[in-house]
Amino acid sequence: MRKRFKWLALAALILIAGFCFYRLQFHQPLRELTHSEFLAEARSGRWAEVHISETELVGLARPEKSGVAVRAVFARRLPGVELSGFLKELETLKIPVAAAKDSSAAWTAALGWFFPLVLLLMIASLVVWRTRHSTGGLLLSGSDHGKIYDQSSAAKVTFDDVAGVDESKAELVEIVDFLKNPQKYQQLGGRIPKGVLLVGPPGTGKTLLAKAVAGEADVSFFSISASEFIEMFVGVGAARVRHLFERAKRKAPCIVFIDELDAIGKSRSDRRHSGSHDEREQTLNQLLVEMDGFDPTKGIIVIAATNTPEVLDPALVRTGRFDRQVLIDRPDLRGREAVLRIHSRHVRLSSDVELHTIAARTPGMVGADLANIMNEAALLAARRAAAQVEMRDVEEAIDRVMLGLEKKTRVMDEQEKERVAYHETGHALVALSMRHADPVHRVSIIPRSIGALGHVLQLPTQEKFLLTQPELEDRLAVMLGGRVAEDIIYEGVVSTGANNDLERASELARQMVTHYGMSAVLGPMTYGKAQTSQFLSPSLRAEDRNYSEQTAETIDAEVRRIVDETYERVRGVLLQRREELGRIAAELMRKETLSREELWVLLSPSSEILSA
Ligand code: ADP
Ligand code: MG
Ligand code: ZN
Repeated sequence: MRKRFKWLALAALILIAGFCFYRLQFHQPLRELTHSEFLAEARSGRWAEVHISETELVGLARPEKSGVAVRAVFARRLPGVELSGFLKELETLKIPVAAAKDSSAAWTAALGWFFPLVLLLMIASLVVWRTRHSTGGLLLSGSDHGKIYDQSSAAKVTFDDVAGVDESKAELVEIVDFLKNPQKYQQLGGRIPKGVLLVGPPGTGKTLLAKAVAGEADVSFFSISASEFIEMFVGVGAARVRHLFERAKRKAPCIVFIDELDAIGKSRSDRRHSGSHDEREQTLNQLLVEMDGFDPTKGIIVIAATNTPEVLDPALVRTGRFDRQVLIDRPDLRGREAVLRIHSRHVRLSSDVELHTIAARTPGMVGADLANIMNEAALLAARRAAAQVEMRDVEEAIDRVMLGLEKKTRVMDEQEKERVAYHETGHALVALSMRHADPVHRVSIIPRSIGALGHVLQLPTQEKFLLTQPELEDRLAVMLGGRVAEDIIYEGVVSTGANNDLERASELARQMVTHYGMSAVLGPMTYGKAQTSQFLSPSLRAEDRNYSEQTAETIDAEVRRIVDETYERVRGVLLQRREELGRIAAELMRKETLSREELWVLLSPSSEILSA
């Protein structure tokens, strides 16, 4: 479309240039004379012929010898000047007089307004064109919609390419079966789902899974992101939805995949703050109309993805629309290993690479992160011109993905380094001393990512779905370990380095009190409306207070008590291990990173290690 427009503009330009040229060539040469000059020329016998029109007199000059060129000269007809005398004069001079067709005047007049008009039109269309393109699309969807694509022939994705989401896959098998044999379902008369909503955090493989359904069923896959529906102009989104479904109907059976459904599907009450209400509403309405409109037996399944299902308009999740929800969770240990296996299929791995270990080191990571790690590891191996990807490449890749790139360029001065070393050693020693803490895998003072100065890596021995009160208390203790170590070593002079630790500790303590019923004073109750989903964005997580002012004070006091008591407990532990604290910190300053084994060597033989 862009191209077509350019050609059009070029053609218009040529046309205009042509007109101007024509005008110059044939009309400008008319030399203008005054009335008396014209007469004088006539008397001198220059005119072979004179044309008279409404506005002017045109004298055609006599051929000069060769007899070809006829030069035309004109004079304006003066209003009010009697022509009869002039005509008589011409008659005596025997110059033929004719009434002119007045073409030149007509042309001049026409061009006078035509040229600016065309110019104006061109500028206007250019402006419109620019606006359309800067907002990412054309008002009227032509056949060239970039983002709707038919993937039936593209590299097929199947269920084998998606790992760690076995339950979700099982729920989608039925959809695949329906797409494969719609007649079977038609005969039985069962209600076929129209819409399936994939719900899960970003990067868990929702898009991939939708593609896999299409791949398994061997049908076309139309994909569009709902955020792209929203345009500057009202009505564009709706037109696109209509167009998308038109195309899909022609290609049935097929899958229509709508990514980021929340972009248009936000519940109406939630939309107060965002702009373009009308646009969103229109687009949403069109989507609802389309979903109600198509015949499910035709074999169209609409799959949508979102990570914030709770903000969706209730109208969207009603029966007959996206009434089926499939949850896609973060993969567990085994799931992560399976995902890693998929993404290392095309990577040459050295025998020392243990996918299980990598999976154990990456709790909480989603499929996209793991894919990223394997890719990064392969790049790192390539950079050092290795034949195979080794475990150290993977380790480095994990660090990069997990903590951001190592900031080797930022230099810490010795004092800062010492403080960070004590701080991190504090975390590590507390982790070693707490029965329920995860074992320490590594301590480091290498600055990474923004905000963090060093880090202690703890490796959970197993995936936990439930945490007991002692486990939470020990977790809290480890968080406070850094600050307590600084407090002890620098005799009360603390730093800003513990900011994040304290924030997390306060939050945890508050949750223990208000959500988990772990305070004897407040009892087994929850305070504040519990958050509805872990996927909610922080801004939406504001709690509704459903307790009195006094209770609020009690909560604050209880949170304070838990933090204070833990702080004292940690202080006791670290005071007892003061000597180890100094020894490990010194070594940490020297080596910057200590592995689990290096750390163990530095521990006093007498001290007990409770988490191993
Ligand atoms: P989402 O749509 O949930 O944000 P994507 O499907 O776009 O996530 O995932 C991005 C990429 O991450 C995929 O292309 C794939 O390479 C990888 N990935 C994510 N989840 C998985 C999984 N469960 N199994 C295999 N690969 C995955
Ligand atoms: Mg996606
Ligand atoms: Zn810390």
